[in-house]
Amino acid sequence: MSVQTARPPRSTKVFIPELVYFEPNALNYPKGVRIMEWAKKEGLPIRMTTSHNRITNLPGDNEFAKYRMAKNTLVVGVRKTLTFDQSKPSAEYAIPIATGCMAHCHYCYLQTTLGAKPYIRVYVNTDEILQAAKKYIDERAPEITRFEAACTSDPLGLEHISGSLSELIEFMADEPYGRLRFVSKFHHVEPLLNLRHNGHTRIRFSVNADYVIKQFEPGTSTFAERIEAAGKIAKAGYPLGFIIAPIIWHEGWEEGYAHLLEKLKEALPREAVKDLTFELIQHRFTKTAKNVILKRYPKTKLEMDEAKRKYKWGRWGQGKYVYPDEQAQALREHITEQIFDKFPEATIDYFT
Ligand code: SF4
Repeated sequence: MSVQTARPPRSTKVFIPELVYFEPNALNYPKGVRIMEWAKKEGLPIRMTTSHNRITNLPGDNEFAKYRMAKNTLVVGVRKTLTFDQSKPSAEYAIPIATGCMAHCHYCYLQTTLGAKPYIRVYVNTDEILQAAKKYIDERAPEITRFEAACTSDPLGLEHISGSLSELIEFMADEPYGRLRFVSKFHHVEPLLNLRHNGHTRIRFSVNADYVIKQFEPGTSTFAERIEAAGKIAKAGYPLGFIIAPIIWHEGWEEGYAHLLEKLKEALPREAVKDLTFELIQHRFTKTAKNVILKRYPKTKLEMDEAKRKYKWGRWGQGKYVYPDEQAQALREHITEQIFDKFPEATIDYFT
């Protein structure tokens, strides 16, 4: 008789890039110097670049290899554009602390928005970024101004390198009219647990049905890790939320999303349940995104058949393919029901 030993669950390690670039000017900031010291201690190859927007000679024999290398390349620079983009519907503004992500979610919109620059940029001039945020807050006071820190990156996955979220959280703690929010598929929350946040930062975890996580989210923390992290965040007193995105119509989707909500309920500590928010985003794609995704992940099972979708005109140009109304409605109703069944006091911020 053979004895089966249970394999311990895998633990997702923090991101260590294969290559690091610095803009010379980044070394005039304490954060730039600190990251340089860290990169040297880690024994990482270091190169200099005149601009964080112009990294052209990444190693790799073909486009595919270069793309994988870009996702493992960190560029440390100074953020010059301090005008913030809007970030509807989750917040008023996107606060730029990083651009790019090391994970490989097939559906990620950064594939198209970052175009030929999928490498990861972190910005060292956090004080200037915070001064700009302060101006936006003052302009709108006494209305609350919310800033989303995860529009162009997954900043929690970079926190051990940049420390930027911690700075934002502590800054926002003292702003009566400012709020911070970010979302993550990583679980490395330790640096945030003892910060003074004053309840002004809402941390959300991106979760999904098993099928979606397994098929389309390589390089992220596991579901179990994310939920454990969510529990720690709630115990640390932060407002907590979940983003279910992208919601994907797949075989068994009803059980898949019901099971997701069940698992959340089982795993979350009591503190997490009060003031819980959900944001629901159905899968969508543009023609450009489809082409890029099929090139980068040629074996993807992501369904992107225009014939099965509804075309939604875009305000600023290219439209998107979303689910037809009937399917969207079914997804919305089912998931909403499951949420209120398991978490009657939760709020659903939006379904889009
Ligand atoms: S974790 Fe988020 S930002 Fe990173 S690849 Fe996945 S969807 Fe994109």
